[in-house]
Amino acid sequence: MMAAITAAEQGANIQILERLPRVGKKLLATGNGHCNLSNLNSEMNHYHGNPDFIQLIFSQFDRNDTLELFENMGLSWIAESDFGRVFPRSMQASSVLDILRNAMAQRGITENCDATVQRIERTKHDFLIKLGGGDTLQADRVILAAGGRASPNMGSNGSGFTLAEQLGHSIRTPSPAIVQLIWDEPFSKSLKGLKIQASISLKSDGNELRSEIGEIHFMEDGLSGIPALQMARLVNESLEKEQIPVLHINLLPDLQSDDIHKQLMDRMDHFKNQPVQESLISLVHKRLIPVLLKEARIPCDTICSQLNESPVKSLMDALICWKIPVTGTRSWSSAQVTAGGIVTDEVYPSTLESKLVPGLYFAGEIMDVDGDCGGYNLQWAWSSGWVAGKSAADIS
Ligand SMILES: Cc1cc2nc3c(=O)[nH]c(=O)nc-3n(C[C@H](O)[C@H](O)[C@H](O)COP(=O)(O)OP(=O)(O)OC[C@H]3O[C@@H](n4cnc5c(N)ncnc54)[C@H](O)[C@@H]3O)c2cc1C
Repeated sequence: MMAAITAAEQGANIQILERLPRVGKKLLATGNGHCNLSNLNSEMNHYHGNPDFIQLIFSQFDRNDTLELFENMGLSWIAESDFGRVFPRSMQASSVLDILRNAMAQRGITENCDATVQRIERTKHDFLIKLGGGDTLQADRVILAAGGRASPNMGSNGSGFTLAEQLGHSIRTPSPAIVQLIWDEPFSKSLKGLKIQASISLKSDGNELRSEIGEIHFMEDGLSGIPALQMARLVNESLEKEQIPVLHINLLPDLQSDDIHKQLMDRMDHFKNQPVQESLISLVHKRLIPVLLKEARIPCDTICSQLNESPVKSLMDALICWKIPVTGTRSWSSAQVTAGGIVTDEVYPSTLESKLVPGLYFAGEIMDVDGDCGGYNLQWAWSSGWVAGKSAADIS
């Protein structure tokens, strides 16, 4: 939609081909229905892919340009003071879609829905676009903005990759990103639904891959919450290399280890004639206590005075470095984003035109670029859409 608006602004005659009955279905689901459309802290370290390529797109149309354009199209927006996430003031994702559709209508852009593109052929002079129903359309230029494979019920079912491959492009193997982590642990059911603040870090083959702090959500088979979702792409990368990724959870991230040790020793003394599980009440959520004691190999009914330095050390490890092997991530149907996609070496970063097929352009998640949670993926869609739309319409 952003590409279409930008190209139409340059005078191009645009038709959007959309396989679903309406455009922008995914947009309505973004940000839990609020649409986190950008982020005021749009630093490069929130993006994954070739940094030079990504930077060249943002140097042409960045977050400020995006917000200004949205304002000019009639969108009123607000940003959080802490995390910088940008939302429509109405907090309704539908506002963003309404504004985009209004801008498209004003520029004479046709929305051709229930139109599945099955094949794109480059002829000597133009493109032939073959649709599911048997129709064939002709176009001078094509912008392929079919998304990745995440949440296929919202339209992006990976068919864009097939279309690009048919035209000779290479795809870096797509994997689900921004998705829940899965583990196979006996405690899972007892913690289902628990939400706590923690810091987590993901390690693989002895190396720390990423660390995050924030609210984590225990599920019946793994972990959710923004810090966990952000780790998904790395989990899949590790498993692909046949390395087991291990999550290290610190349940007391605001305390130094010396303080924790002292607190535990003081508590063992205070509750000396009582079972050890009593001594942990209020330090961590009550549902975690039996799980952590099991992790530290301490029977719950052990009397505090019977614990010497060694089990207290194990308990401390369980509290600040609880290690859980991750066996995978949830599948495409739960994923918000696709890691991998069209290899960006095959695309000119100044125009987003294909290096292999003149007149073919790419925008959005279909390329091998993905961002963290927080509005970064939509910002990539807006910026790359603008560059592709402007270049595709440029007939000079
Ligand atoms: C639940 C959810 C919440 C999210 N929340 C946020 C958020 O708050 N902030 C954020 O930055 N990002 C968020 N994202 C990610 C963001 O929505 C995507 O990165 C972004 O929409 C990608 O834009 P796109 O235009 O490249 O692809 P898409 O939005 O996937 O659009 C591609 C379109 O192409 C159509 N299409 C695909 N194949 C064909 C075909 N063969 N023929 C015709 N049409 C086709 C699809 O139906 C679809 O409408 C979220 C994603 C999900 C799933």
